[in-house]
Amino acid sequence: MKNKERPIIILLKPDTTRRDIDEILSRIAGTGLKPLYMPGIERTVLGAIGDERVLAGLRLENYACVERITPVLTPYKLVSKEAHPAESVVTIGDRRIGGGDFLVIAGPCAVESEEQMCRTAEAVKAGGAGALRGGAFKPRTSPYSFQGLGLRGLEMLRDASKQCGLPAVTEVLEAADVEAVAACADVFQVGSRNMQNYRLLTVLGRQHKPVILKRGMSATIEDMLLAAEYIVSEGNPRVILCERGIRTFETATRNTLDLNAVPFLKSRSHLPVIVDPSHGTGLRELVAPMAKAAVACGADGLMIEVHHDPTTAMSDGPQSLDPGQFAGLMRDLDPFITAAGKRTAAAGIIE
Ligand code: PEP
Ligand code: MN
Repeated sequence: MKNKERPIIILLKPDTTRRDIDEILSRIAGTGLKPLYMPGIERTVLGAIGDERVLAGLRLENYACVERITPVLTPYKLVSKEAHPAESVVTIGDRRIGGGDFLVIAGPCAVESEEQMCRTAEAVKAGGAGALRGGAFKPRTSPYSFQGLGLRGLEMLRDASKQCGLPAVTEVLEAADVEAVAACADVFQVGSRNMQNYRLLTVLGRQHKPVILKRGMSATIEDMLLAAEYIVSEGNPRVILCERGIRTFETATRNTLDLNAVPFLKSRSHLPVIVDPSHGTGLRELVAPMAKAAVACGADGLMIEVHHDPTTAMSDGPQSLDPGQFAGLMRDLDPFITAAGKRTAAAGIIE
């Protein structure tokens, strides 16, 4: 595959009309450059990938709606604040995340059975979650551990999500499964072990559904932003970054939850950032305090593992909350969410 050309960013003024946006996009496409459309709440950013000199020939600066045209200096470009100063908002089903809307994604580590999915889905819904998680394809460290139910698991997740009315989030392990996952889930999750699977990221960049990109356990923040850039530069701007802990010398906890990453990412990127304190700590009793800390340092959402009966969980039982613990955490989080200046995303708010 040949190198990607760097995108040029076209920052539009607030209140630019749809007509002007479409005209500029079609003029970019007309030159053979690849146009990119990245809508935001206050303003829209357009991109053009290809030869800068060809773009210059269009004299887009003559449009009154164009604020500035710039090459971006950071290594990651389309995901940077430099390219897109306002926070971007991603919609999951009929809910929003980012730009002040806070979303909690909860559910079991793995889909295990119809009954387990339905009971856990009802519990997380009752607790106030905004989306349902559940892994059908499980990337396990040991080949002897439960690997997930695969396609059957996807169907169970889809049915539970329909039944409880929460959008479904599930991990996709390889490009060949993207279509099957898209048929059953509302959001693709890229796991820590796959953050730098560039082939998978490229395929997801051609999809229309949102992607939760989990930080690789040995990845730097810049590695993570560049992985997100793979997805966005293919045309899918619906990316949510997820801090889930990194490997350090510490062994008391499963991982070291790097909450530094949250304000750092929020200062460098416009993408929503969520935190997974379940994998970040590996210990049930640390999930609530670290969830609160995540909200306090600016996260736009959380991903929490919940099982209707964690004592029987086939994976990640020790870090899973039971329904009562989850409901308690959600109640306790409320004042933190308000203090952070955010709203809990309610259903049906998409215009
Ligand atoms: C998961 O969310 O179940 C998971 C496998 O997480 P991670 O990729 O962060 O290890
Ligand atoms: Mn898990």
